[in-house]
Amino acid sequence: MTATVRIAGPRGAQADYDLRRLGAAEYFIRRRDTGAGYVVTLREGGQWSCGCPAARYRKGPCKHTARVKEVHELLAALARPERTT
Ligand SMILES: [Zn+2]
Repeated sequence: MTATVRIAGPRGAQADYDLRRLGAAEYFIRRRDTGAGYVVTLREGGQWSCGCPAARYRKGPCKHTARVKEVHELLAALARPERTT
């Protein structure tokens, strides 16, 4: 199953991505218009990694990592149902 996520680029342009969960802390994100896809992983110790060129050659987290991290944290926060009292 895939979900759609939107990522804003550096100049404000937005692109839609298909996001699929591969494992407990592993995702596959693929840009719809170009088909470029990367595996994004949360490593032991809390570091995120991405297979894209930006993550490999630049410092700091890439845009895929930032977005997937948001989604991952959202899923974790809502994983267990909780009734208000
Ligand atoms: Zn990336």
